[in-house]
Amino acid sequence: MRILVVSTPVGALGSGRGGGVEITALALVAGLLDRGHRLTVLAAEGSRLPESCSGAVIWGERGTDQPSWQHRPRNAPVELPADALLGRLWRRALTHQAGFDVILNLAYDWLPLWLTPHTATPLAHLVSMGSVAAVMDAVIAEIARSHPRHLAFHTAAQAADFDLPQPPRLVGNGFDLSRYQFQAEPEPLLGWAGRIAPEKGLEDAAAAAARLGLPLVVWGLEEDAAYARRVEALVPPGTIHWRGFLPTERLQAELGRCAVLLNTPKWNEAFGNVVVEALACGVPVAAYARGGPAELVQDGVTGVLAEPDDVDALVAAVRRARGLDRRRCRAWVEAHCSQQAFAARIEDWLSALVEGHR
Ligand code: UDP
Repeated sequence: MRILVVSTPVGALGSGRGGGVEITALALVAGLLDRGHRLTVLAAEGSRLPESCSGAVIWGERGTDQPSWQHRPRNAPVELPADALLGRLWRRALTHQAGFDVILNLAYDWLPLWLTPHTATPLAHLVSMGSVAAVMDAVIAEIARSHPRHLAFHTAAQAADFDLPQPPRLVGNGFDLSRYQFQAEPEPLLGWAGRIAPEKGLEDAAAAAARLGLPLVVWGLEEDAAYARRVEALVPPGTIHWRGFLPTERLQAELGRCAVLLNTPKWNEAFGNVVVEALACGVPVAAYARGGPAELVQDGVTGVLAEPDDVDALVAAVRRARGLDRRRCRAWVEAHCSQQAFAARIEDWLSALVEGHR
């Protein structure tokens, strides 16, 4: 298939501003190239693709980023800034659609979803978040009724947020596991990774680390600096070791040294890339039983699930997780989250859509 992948209108690929969508995009592109498809990636100017994606053509567009839906009020209307990147991306996609068999949208935005019935080339959407805005819920529900085969979700917990008349297509996510090294021997460190923003619940992980008397190493883009300072003030000085946003190569090398990764979402996390990335390095995960992480962590095998928002339960989960077999963490990821398996699931979905369209 000739596939046009339209990336997020929040940040260039490689900047970290797009969150988990960036890893998804790279795994998709590399995995589909391996399967013999022809890929063009339309993304914000300045986007970088790794060597594994060198067979893809990249088209850059300038323009102003979209505000992230998860940081807007639930009833906020659709907003387009002047000179919007989103508008430019979709103008380019529509202009060139005849050159592709399918367009794959990775943006969690109203405009591409609304376009679904109006394109000549079938338009598929990999929905990257759960419910965060009423207008997005409505357009997803509308497309789920009129064009159900055009939608896919990462996990059942995510899809359950939406009003879907049919069982959803679930594709999980995928990772180039050759980039993550297994580390058998941990150090007495706890880890936490993600965008530093309130929906990610860093405060609970910091409180648990303080209670356990262990340092919490934190990797990720500081999206909300005031929030980061508030979290820091809640725990004894020195509890949090801020490491900033690191590229995968360095992130995985540091992450692998941790005894346990804490994952403490306050929202219905759609997937939870960092959970899989930790497991790939052999790091068991103590996570709130909420959203994607509750489907990814095998309770008592690759990690321990705790009652959401309960720091006592999280502390107990970390203690138990420290005793788990790190090899089983890596083995689970190899069996379920490889880039190859993910690309095969995406291929199934897109080829059924293209066939149906013909
Ligand atoms: N990440 C990274 N470097 C860092 C911290 C995080 O590359 O220092 C990446 C991580 O690999 C993951 C993404 O940021 O793919 C966060 O994705 P996740 O699904 O956990 O959450 P989201 O940001 O999409 O809500």
